[in-house]
Amino acid sequence: MNIHEYQAKALFEKYGVPCPKGIAAQRPEEFEQALGTIGLPCVVKSQIHAGGRGKGTFTDGFKGGVKFSRTREEALANAQAMLGNTLVTKQTGPAGRKVQTLYFSEGCDIEKEYYLAILLDRASSRPVIIASTEGGVDIETVAEETPEKITKVFVDPAVGLQGFQARQIAFGLGFTGDLFKQAVKLLDRLYAMFWELDASMVEVNPLITTKDGKLLALDAKVGFDDNALFRHPEIVALRDLNEEDSKEIEASKYSLSYIALDGNIACLVNGAGLAMATMDIIKHFGGEPANFLDVGGGASKDQVEAAFKIILTDPNVKGILVNIFGGIMDCNVIAQGVVAAVREIGLNIPLVVRLEGNNVEAGKKTLAESGLAITSGDTMADAAKKIVALVA
Ligand code: GDP
Ligand code: MG
Repeated sequence: MNIHEYQAKALFEKYGVPCPKGIAAQRPEEFEQALGTIGLPCVVKSQIHAGGRGKGTFTDGFKGGVKFSRTREEALANAQAMLGNTLVTKQTGPAGRKVQTLYFSEGCDIEKEYYLAILLDRASSRPVIIASTEGGVDIETVAEETPEKITKVFVDPAVGLQGFQARQIAFGLGFTGDLFKQAVKLLDRLYAMFWELDASMVEVNPLITTKDGKLLALDAKVGFDDNALFRHPEIVALRDLNEEDSKEIEASKYSLSYIALDGNIACLVNGAGLAMATMDIIKHFGGEPANFLDVGGGASKDQVEAAFKIILTDPNVKGILVNIFGGIMDCNVIAQGVVAAVREIGLNIPLVVRLEGNNVEAGKKTLAESGLAITSGDTMADAAKKIVALVA
C-alpha cells in the first residue's frame, strides 16, 4: 500500500525526520488559508501516487505538477490549474492521474540535492539504505551511468541501524561538521520509521541541504508491506482508493491476489508460482497477460466467481486462459465459479481451460454441461498456444 507525500511528511514529523512545513488542500476554498499559514515563497505540489511530478505535464498542456511560487497570485494560479486536472508523468503511464489533493509546502532555498532511500533487499533479506550525491534525478540512471556515486549499507534486522553505518552513509554523501551530525540523526529517525511501520520503501528524493545549513527531506515516497497492515490500522486509514485500480480494489474485497497488467489475455490460476509461470508462457508464445491472478489453494466458488467477473468486465481483455492444477483446490469449484460468472455477465471472447488434478472429471463435466464455448488445453503449453492464437 502506498500513501501520498503529505501523509508521508506527517509521519516524518512524528518520527523527527526534518522536512519543510506543509498543508494539504482538497478544495479551492482551502487554498487561501493554506497559503496564509505556509507563507511565501511556497511550492504547490500535486498529490498522486507517482513520482516525476515536477517534470510531468497535465493533459490540458499545463506544465509541471510541482511549482515553486513566489507570490500569492502565482501560487493560487498554479493551484487552480492543478486541482482536478490530470497529470501525466514517467510513472503514471499515458492515461495519467487525476489530482484530487494539493500540498502547499514552504519554499526552500536549495544548496544541493541528494538521494536517500530505505528498501527491503530481497536477495540478502535485509533492509538496505541507498544514498547518492545525485539527487532529484532518476536513481536508476545514476546506478547505470555512475554507480560509484551510490553508497549502499545493509542493515542487520536483528540489531537495527548501527551508528557506524549511519556515519558511513553521511560520509558517503560528503557531509562534514553540523550537517554530518544532522545526517546521522535523520538516518536514525528514518530507519526507525521504516522499521516500526513495516514499510517496504521510504524514498527521499531529493534530500536537500539549504543555504542556511539545514538538512531536509524535500520529497517523500512511502510504501507499506500489505502483509503487515493488520498491525497498523492508523496506516490503513491513510489508504486512498482514488489512487488504486478499481479491479484491484474489488479483488481485495474477496482476498484475491490480483494485479492488473497492460496485456489482453486474462489468466485465472491457482497458486502464485503457477500464475507467474502462466504469464511467462503466454509471453513465450507471443501474447501479453492482462493480469496476475492467484485464486489461492482453498478458494470458494464465490471467490472464483468474483475473480472471473473482474476479468470479464475488463474492456482490455480479449481472451481468457484458466490454468488450474488442483491439489487442495477442487477443479469442480473452479468450474462452478466460472459458469456462475458467465451466466451473469455472458461471454463473448475466447476461453481456454486447462484443468488437472483434484476432482478434474467433475470439473470438466460441469463445464461441458454448461454449454459454454470452451477450448480445452491438454497441457499448459497447448493451452497457452491456443489462447494466443485465438486473440491474434
Ligand atoms: P517529484 O518531481 O514528484 O519527484 O517531486 P519533488 O517533490 O521531488 O519536486 C521536484 C523538484 O522540484 C525537486 O527535485 C526540486 O528541484 C524542486 N523543488 C521542490 N520543492 C522545492 C523547493 O522548496 N525549493 C526549490 N528551490 N525547489 C523545489
Ligand atoms: Mg522527487
